[in-house]
Amino acid sequence: MGSLRRMSRARPLPILDAEIDERVRATRDAHPYWPCSKGCDLCCRSLPFLPVMTGEEWGRVRDALLALPDAERADVVDRTRRAPERGPLACPILDEAKGACRIYQARPIACRTYGFYTERDAGLHCERVTRAIEEHANDEPILWGNGEAIHHRMHDLGEPVSLRTWLEHLAQTD
Ligand code: SF4
Repeated sequence: MGSLRRMSRARPLPILDAEIDERVRATRDAHPYWPCSKGCDLCCRSLPFLPVMTGEEWGRVRDALLALPDAERADVVDRTRRAPERGPLACPILDEAKGACRIYQARPIACRTYGFYTERDAGLHCERVTRAIEEHANDEPILWGNGEAIHHRMHDLGEPVSLRTWLEHLAQTD
């Protein structure tokens, strides 16, 4: 009963985070050569479009952006405004000098799953991961995360909206 009460109070985003963290950890443990780690920002530098996120995800991204020093936040806003509709483009939230996400703990779900989850028709897009796997072809089989299942569960979190739109909304309500 107690655990049922806890589950009914549980918020879907932290549960998704925990499940994705567990899948990522299991992949890394089974395949120590996996290239996704601090210092590799290839995916953040070659987005097909600006980050897209649901309202729940935006809530924590917004809080993390508001906690940045003013100059850094202004840089994110400016780069978002100037970003083209289609990529490849560098994420405005990326600290390009450090090659690190400025809001890593609050990053959207798509950033958490990239490189570790696949979809039947979309496949895997990270060339660095693909190359590493090819170089370790005799290694243990890979247990990929199910990207379609994540998309399905994201429906509970609301309609995904572009970072540009969220920031415009924030500016209007400031
Ligand atoms: S939000 Fe962070 S992790 Fe996601 S693409 Fe941008 S810089 Fe990379």
